[in-house]
Amino acid sequence: MKTFPKIKSAEYTDLNRVIGWYIKLRWIACIGVFITLLYVNRLLTYNLPYEILYILNGLIVFVNFALSIYYSIFRNKNLNRKEMILFFNIQIACDYILLFFIIYFTGFVNNPFIYYFVFHIMLTSFIFSSKTVTIYVASLVSALVGVSLGEYFNIIPHYPFLMESLAQYRNILFIRLLALCSTLIISAYLILKIKEKIEEKGKQVEVELNKYKNLDKIKSNFILQVTHELRGPVAALKGFHDMLLRGVVKTSDRKVIEVLKKANRRTENLLTMIDEMLDYAYMKTGEEIKLKLQDLSLKNIIDENIETFQSFADDKNIKLVSNCNRGIKIKSNRDLLNIILNNLISNAIKYSPPHTSVTINAEEENNHVHLLVKDEGIGIEPNELDKIFEEFYRTRKAMEIEKDGTGLGLPIVKKATEALRGKITVYSEVNRGTTFHLYFPKK
Ligand code: ADP
Repeated sequence: MKTFPKIKSAEYTDLNRVIGWYIKLRWIACIGVFITLLYVNRLLTYNLPYEILYILNGLIVFVNFALSIYYSIFRNKNLNRKEMILFFNIQIACDYILLFFIIYFTGFVNNPFIYYFVFHIMLTSFIFSSKTVTIYVASLVSALVGVSLGEYFNIIPHYPFLMESLAQYRNILFIRLLALCSTLIISAYLILKIKEKIEEKGKQVEVELNKYKNLDKIKSNFILQVTHELRGPVAALKGFHDMLLRGVVKTSDRKVIEVLKKANRRTENLLTMIDEMLDYAYMKTGEEIKLKLQDLSLKNIIDENIETFQSFADDKNIKLVSNCNRGIKIKSNRDLLNIILNNLISNAIKYSPPHTSVTINAEEENNHVHLLVKDEGIGIEPNELDKIFEEFYRTRKAMEIEKDGTGLGLPIVKKATEALRGKITVYSEVNRGTTFHLYFPKK
C-alpha cells in the first residue's frame, strides 16, 4: 500500500494557515450572503426562491461550523499528507457545490456573482496540483454547461434574476456561458503557469544554496585540518619555551630570558587562535553531530574555568568572582559549556582594565538556567552590539587593546549556545562594562 509521508513542519504550518484562513473567509461569505439576501428580498423585492436560499445560507453556516470544529481538533495532530489533502478537498468541494446551488437559484448565468467561481478557481490553482485543478475546472465547466443545456431545453426550471423572459434568457445564455468558462480555464492556466515558474525558481535557489553550503563545509573542513596540523608543532614549541623558562637548560643571561618570555607569550597567543579556529571549524562541521547531554553541576564547570583563567586574571590584577549555588544542575554538554565559558571569560579579562572584577554567576529561573558573565571593561558601542556575533568582526576599540584576535570566539559561543537549545543576549555600556546573559533549558 502507498504510504504518505508526514507533512514537514513548515509546509504543515503553511497548509494549516491556509485552512484557517479559508474558514475565516467562509464566515465572511456567510454574513455576506445573508445580508445580500435580506437586501434583495426586502429592498429590491426580486422574485427569488428565498426559502431555498436561506436554507443554503444555513447550510454554509453548518458546514463551516463542522469544518472549524474538525480543524481545531486536527490542528494539534500532525496529519499525514493524504488526510490533509482530503480535508482540503472536502472544504473546497463543499464551497463549489454550495456556491453552485446559490447561483443556480438566483438567475444562473444572468447572476453577476457567478464570476465568484473565478476566485475559487484561482485559490484552488494556488493550492492544488495541476491534475487536481484540471479535475475541478473540468467538473465545474461540465456542471455549468449541463445546467445551461437543462435550462435551455426546459428540462430543469430557470430561476430568473432580473425577471427576464425565458426567451431573452436563452438568447444570452450561451454567450455568457462561453465568457465565463473561458475566463475560468484561462485563470486556472495562468495561475498554474505562474506557480510552475515560482517553483522552478525556488528549486534553482535551493540548488545554489546547497552549493554554497557545500563550499562552506569544505572551507570549515579545511580550517579544521590545517589548524589540527598546526596545533601539534605550536604546542611543542610552547613546551620547549616553558622548559627553557623553568630552567631545564641553564642560562643566566637576562636578555635571553626576556626574549624567551616574549616568544612564549606570542606562541601562547598563536595557540589560543588555533584553538579558536579549531572550535569554530568543529562547530561548523559538527552541526549534524548528535550532542551527548548529561546531568552536570554548573558550579563545578564554572569553578574549573575560573581556575583555568586565574593566572591570566592575576597578571592583569583582575578579580574573578562567582557565588553560584552548588545545587544547580543542568542537562547539557560539558565540552560545549567549556567552550562557551572559556571564550566569554577570556574576552571579559582581555577587554577589561586592571583592578576591575569579572563576575560569573548562574541561577535557576523556572525551567531554565540563567548564566551570566559580567565585566567592568571597555564596553561595546550600541551600533556594534549585533555585529559582534558575526564571524571575524572585532570592534575598533578591542583591536587597539588587543592586536591578536580572530573574531571567531563569539560566533562559536552563539553556535554552541544554540546547539544546547539556549539563547544569548548582550548588554553593554561603553567604558562601564559588558554582560553576556545566557539562558539554557534545565532538562
Ligand atoms: P576576539 O576576542 O578574538 O576579537 P570574539 O568573537 O571573541 O573575538 O569577540 C568579537 C568582538 O566582540 C571582540 O573583538 C570585541 O570587539 C567584542 N567583545 C567581545 N567580548 C567583549 C567584552 N567582554 N567586552 C568588550 N568587547 C567585547
